[in-house]
Amino acid sequence: MIRLKNIKKSFGKQMVLKGIDLTVEKGEVVVILGPSGSGKTTLLRCINFLERADSGAITIGDLSVDCHRATKKEILALRRKTAMVFQHYNLFKHKTVLENVMEGLVVVQKWPVERAKERSLQILEKVGLSQQIDMYPSQLSGGQQQRVGIARALALNPEVILFDEPTSALDPELVGEVLSVIQKIAREGITMIVVTHEMGFARDISDHVVFMDNGVVVEEGKPNEIFHAPKEERTKQFLKRIT
Ligand code: ADP
Repeated sequence: MIRLKNIKKSFGKQMVLKGIDLTVEKGEVVVILGPSGSGKTTLLRCINFLERADSGAITIGDLSVDCHRATKKEILALRRKTAMVFQHYNLFKHKTVLENVMEGLVVVQKWPVERAKERSLQILEKVGLSQQIDMYPSQLSGGQQQRVGIARALALNPEVILFDEPTSALDPELVGEVLSVIQKIAREGITMIVVTHEMGFARDISDHVVFMDNGVVVEEGKPNEIFHAPKEERTKQFLKRIT
């Protein structure tokens, strides 16, 4: 379903990704853990070409691209297979909740407005925001804003949703509502790659866990293996610090 092969990325002289390989099966939820600065966000951003990796290859479904050589057309095609949920929501401030969710369908996917509206309303109901459809982001709590971000990603019906620390900007009391929405959609079998520091959530939601440090995958495996019987010293130290 998704395959990353030897992804490398440097910023100036700093090599942030040092050859990442990763395979994600259809319907699988993969959680990426690791200390701050280990390259997790950069890896997500390379998957949808918000950053272009210096080398390596990315396959999503039936499309494979060479990161270094990818054409604009290939990049657009690959992007359409993904949707991203950002740490800071990245909503359009001057659009309502409903308009935020419809935007990608109407502008990018060229859906007729009425059909886009119908689908957006269904998805907003799923994330518990039927009462807020005409509100603006500034009128919402952080948790509600992030649920709009999730609805917007879901609306696009992507092959994979990339979550970049979706709860790290939230007040602690708002984290739960966002995690439970993510959990609900995970149960529907949507393929997800999730960067998070929420260990309990990571354990509950993941089918596969990847531990990254300093630009490399140090260890990966089933959640039970990684959380209860990590093999690598760096993984052990990280889990000891964070839990
Ligand atoms: P993580 O998500 O694991 O915290 P990041 O991928 O955000 O790690 O960052 C990895 C390293 O890359 C950090 O040292 C960060 O400062 C650096 N970095 C990330 N984005 C950029 C950028 N656009 N320009 C320069 N350095 C960057």
